[in-house]
Amino acid sequence: MNRDHLKPDPANAAPAIQQVQAIGMVYTCPMHPEIRQDHPGNCPKCGMALEPVMPTLEEDDNSELRNFEHRFWWTLPFTAIVFVLAMAGHRLQWMDMAVQI
Ligand SMILES: [Zn+2]
Repeated sequence: MNRDHLKPDPANAAPAIQQVQAIGMVYTCPMHPEIRQDHPGNCPKCGMALEPVMPTLEEDDNSELRNFEHRFWWTLPFTAIVFVLAMAGHRLQWMDMAVQI
């Protein structure tokens, strides 16, 4: 079976790496903030993988926050329904005790 199509294509991966490095990424160790270098690697003190330092906190590329907000607002109605059922379902005769056993 030919698995060549599963391998990452270096021709497609190279532009993304160059674009990241062009911004001026700085990599630092989570445990040793004094370690700073301009390319990914391992910390010379503890060997942990270096993580990129965010250029500014005001960058408008907060995709994780947007993802969490999206999921929060989509699940909020269901949470409210479960809350009402759990707190007042029996009193409103919406849930019969015999059904739950
Ligand atoms: Zn370190």
